[in-house]
Amino acid sequence: MNGQEIVAHYATRSGIDIYKLPVWAFANHITNCYLVMDEAVTLIDCSSAVDGATESLDRCFENLRSEFGLAVGLKDVERLILTHGHIDHFGGTNHVLEQSGAKVAIHELDVSTIQNFEERRIVVAKDLQVFLQRSGLSEKRVEGMLEMNRWSKGIFRSVQVDTVLREGPLDDSPFEVFHAPGHCPGQVCLKLDDIMFTADHVLDKITPHQSPEFITRNMGLGHYFQALKQVRSVEGVRLGLGGHMGDIPDVAKRIDETLAFHEARLEKTRLICQEPKTLAEVSLELFGVRESYHVLLAILEAGAHVEYLYERGLLEVVNHEAIEHDANPVLQYQIV
Ligand SMILES: [Zn+2]
Ligand SMILES: [Zn+2]
Repeated sequence: MNGQEIVAHYATRSGIDIYKLPVWAFANHITNCYLVMDEAVTLIDCSSAVDGATESLDRCFENLRSEFGLAVGLKDVERLILTHGHIDHFGGTNHVLEQSGAKVAIHELDVSTIQNFEERRIVVAKDLQVFLQRSGLSEKRVEGMLEMNRWSKGIFRSVQVDTVLREGPLDDSPFEVFHAPGHCPGQVCLKLDDIMFTADHVLDKITPHQSPEFITRNMGLGHYFQALKQVRSVEGVRLGLGGHMGDIPDVAKRIDETLAFHEARLEKTRLICQEPKTLAEVSLELFGVRESYHVLLAILEAGAHVEYLYERGLLEVVNHEAIEHDANPVLQYQIV
């Protein structure tokens, strides 16, 4: 548990108050939620659903009162905007709705994630299984990863979405929505005057995790790069506030760094494939030996880069014989 939920205050150009709530989500993982005092009390994201996260969110509200004298509680939240359908951002929704009558908003491409949580979890797990089987991992490793992925079973009760977010101004609010797929299908950035809530699209110091579109549509590096360039072109942004880590004083610069980072990783991936390589082999060469959940994250990240190169004709699959005859073959990639 965080235990030091140090709340920070910001004001937009027109004087709208924003409070950053650093909420413990998992071990070594803090999610930045934001309370925005526009004409409605708006909460942006609500951290995860595991034990300790809801208490951490509550403590942030207590600290708002003690540090800023702001007598606002979870019960006063009128609008809950979820920046994307990842559990470290929406998991606390059940807790927020138990306390308040907040209207829930999320992008249309992530509606099903929170409205049909179990169904999506099961379907995505099946697509993940096929992806892992084709990656060249042993049956035992695949089963281990699927087991790890089952941790979220039953952790969240599906909720009804009240407001479906789409590109453009959000009705009855001062927010402007920018759809930014890639890291998650329904990822949004939110502009409020001269501040951009970049969520997990752009982060200070780290690059958001990538997965191949093979598993879930509207993920993948192609969408991600395009969305980075779109958000970079938005004018009048003085400060970025991310979903994790610190503030982003220069969003355009951070986007340039993020793009350069992935270009370098793509080139590295291409060079790894001088000889035919399975995805498991590419992942091992890119990231070395990883442990527990990080093995899964590594192979997904490697998969996103290989997929991007393959779709653009920069890699080809070379083991045609096996692919023609096996039901679910391991693919081997090589530089073209
Ligand atoms: Zn995320
Ligand atoms: Zn996140």
